[in-house]
Amino acid sequence: MNGPYEIIDRRFCDLILANVALRRISTGHLWTEGPVWFAAHQCLLFSDIPNQKIYRWMCDGSVNVFRDNSNFANGNTQDRQGRLITCQHGTRSVTRTEHNGKITTLADQFDGKPLNAPNDVVVKSDGSIWFTDPTYGILSDYEGHKSTPEQSHRNVFRLDPETGELWQATTEFTQPNGLAFSQDEKRLYVAESGSSHDDSVPSVIRVYDVDANNMLENGRVFTTIDKGIPDGFRVDCHGNVWSSAADGVHCFDAGGELLGKILVPETVSNLSFGGPRGNELLITATTSVYAIHVNSAAATP
Ligand code: MG
Repeated sequence: MNGPYEIIDRRFCDLILANVALRRISTGHLWTEGPVWFAAHQCLLFSDIPNQKIYRWMCDGSVNVFRDNSNFANGNTQDRQGRLITCQHGTRSVTRTEHNGKITTLADQFDGKPLNAPNDVVVKSDGSIWFTDPTYGILSDYEGHKSTPEQSHRNVFRLDPETGELWQATTEFTQPNGLAFSQDEKRLYVAESGSSHDDSVPSVIRVYDVDANNMLENGRVFTTIDKGIPDGFRVDCHGNVWSSAADGVHCFDAGGELLGKILVPETVSNLSFGGPRGNELLITATTSVYAIHVNSAAATP
């Protein structure tokens, strides 16, 4: 099949399209992350962490600054009411942008101590907010403010946005990063990106069963990334997992088998399904954002 692909399993051909281009829709950034598609506004928001900005890409191709002085915003998502939820390294917090534009801090400490640097975030259909808290945003002054971690773990947290209560969902990561639920929300996938600073840590996505009380159990390796580290990723409507990697986007079936790759000329940090018909992958990759049409769409619980 023509296109920027590496096909490993023939099933991948049913998920991609021939004769489509990988388009660079924004460039000139430092490190792009946190893509989230707002269907109601037909726009993509994404972070440029070191530049302290959140940008907005519109379907007419224009790009403008959605938020200046973003406090080193990283991961973004939206809640069930369509409000923007953002991880901010600079304030070591998770925030919600209200419909009137006001920014509310939802979480900035656990056990009486500051969080490390919330990285990526997802909202479950019950409204609970799940986020990862590795130390990347406090390791240097490039993506935040250099500080000593005060948390004893790099947690995956579950947050009740009504009460502000935080629970440690799991403590077993060196550096937890991207996260996503399966379509039925019975599984939570979490990326382990600790190999960025420690070769002995495997570059894997782990998966957990989510019980009726939102507790995680039966943690196991879902798959291994063979190029670079897994940062952000998304699950599609067929149960496939589309993950960031050094050489592009890797697509895995629900069993963790690698089906194929979309090759991207810059290291990929994250991706989101979106576009007017929901069938584009919008890919944040180092200095640029790329888009490509695929024959799939986001999982929707
Ligand atoms: Mg990340």
